[in-house]
Amino acid sequence: MEIRCDQFQELSKKALKDWHLQQALQSFGTRIQAMRNSAFSLLDNPEGLREQAHNIKKETLERLDEYLEHLEKKVIRTGGRVHWARDARHARQLIETIALNKGVKTVVKGKSMVTEEIALNEALADCGIEVSETDLGEFIIQLAGEPPSHLVGPAIHKTKEQIAELFSEKLGVRRMEDPQEMTMFARKTLRKRFLEADMGITGVNFAVAETGSIVLFENEGNIRLSTTLPKIHVAIMGIEKVIPTLEDLNVFLKLLARSTTGQKLSSYISIITGPKRDGERDGAEEFHLIILDNGRSRILADEELRETLYCIRCGACLDFCPVYLKIGGHSYGWVYSGPIGSILTPQLINRKQAYLLPYASTLCGACAEVCPVKINIPKILLVLRKRLIEDPKWGKPTSMTERVIFALYAYIMRNRWLYEKASRIARIAQRPFMKKGVLKNLPPPLNRWNRHHEVAPLEKTFKQQWKEFSNK
Ligand code: SF4
Repeated sequence: MEIRCDQFQELSKKALKDWHLQQALQSFGTRIQAMRNSAFSLLDNPEGLREQAHNIKKETLERLDEYLEHLEKKVIRTGGRVHWARDARHARQLIETIALNKGVKTVVKGKSMVTEEIALNEALADCGIEVSETDLGEFIIQLAGEPPSHLVGPAIHKTKEQIAELFSEKLGVRRMEDPQEMTMFARKTLRKRFLEADMGITGVNFAVAETGSIVLFENEGNIRLSTTLPKIHVAIMGIEKVIPTLEDLNVFLKLLARSTTGQKLSSYISIITGPKRDGERDGAEEFHLIILDNGRSRILADEELRETLYCIRCGACLDFCPVYLKIGGHSYGWVYSGPIGSILTPQLINRKQAYLLPYASTLCGACAEVCPVKINIPKILLVLRKRLIEDPKWGKPTSMTERVIFALYAYIMRNRWLYEKASRIARIAQRPFMKKGVLKNLPPPLNRWNRHHEVAPLEKTFKQQWKEFSNK
């Protein structure tokens, strides 16, 4: 997949002008936020649970080597094979080798962000292997030849009319109006592919070191079919996906579906421990687990950024991010979008290419408030911004204009007299631009700031507001 993170500004501008995208994002955001909040309101102690999940991730990553070795031993003991992949290219080679050695011609795939990260589909296609995405959203974007625009809902950027058009154009069927009918059509098309597939490839939501099991959450049943019908199952996970025990899984069971889709539990949860055993009717005959690093151990070694690896890819931070809900996933230019993309992408790919992403945030903190594992995303964004400015290895040097503006700003903020004078001048200067209680038509370059959202005017200084608040 082409990396276009350095085009973040152009892609965002295009997204803001895309009427269909704006409709889709608005309706998605409203629905998913209400569903997530309602699902969390049913928990006795949601904060305690999030804290528990955070601590499990923290403690696991502190002893990650031990847990990964334990996981490897258990997978081998249950009849599976484990492969360690240094980077994306290595992971692709490992999977290609397994497929080519077994004469695999067709693959069915469950939704997996890590396979997007390593651009697996393209690599398998180059080897002459036909890959079918089986998650409905992935099926749609595979037909459209697009990358996913959300961690969980890869096709949320498409309206039902666009999907109907796509089915008709790519699959040569009459234009369908009813989403139910389109779903049934996709299901029928995919059913045949499941039955014929030589290999199933999936990601991993959690890998349990205690038992050597991998755990997969889904709502459509396609992952269960991908892991049980083909003779070979290959699962791929980042090193951070391991958790110590099944008891720990219990904590994530309560959090993941609530954060992802606002459900108490996903419709299907598969716990797969090795290949099918003698006498068992279902399951793959061969099970391979690929454990991928691809820059993760570098993140692990960095104490200021390590929390990034706590992520369980639930997508909640995207659903509540005011920036993501305006510009959509494709603007971020690579696989991971939204707040998690803004902190993960610059750490995984060439940092200079992704230097704009940590700025794709208002630092409002909504992401941290909903993150089920309590990742302090705003703090990580600030660490990244600081490094991008200060360290030439990380980013692009800031322009002279920007440096002068910020130096001036810092000088004013440190000088009480200047600060008070500047606030007074700003309040007077804003008057010609005030309309119905908000600032409109600011002159360039300030108009970039209020072109797509309303800016509240500065009516009272912070000190005045603080005084009033304290006297209440
Ligand atoms: S950062 Fe948190 S909220 Fe965002 S996808 Fe990861 S786990 Fe979910």
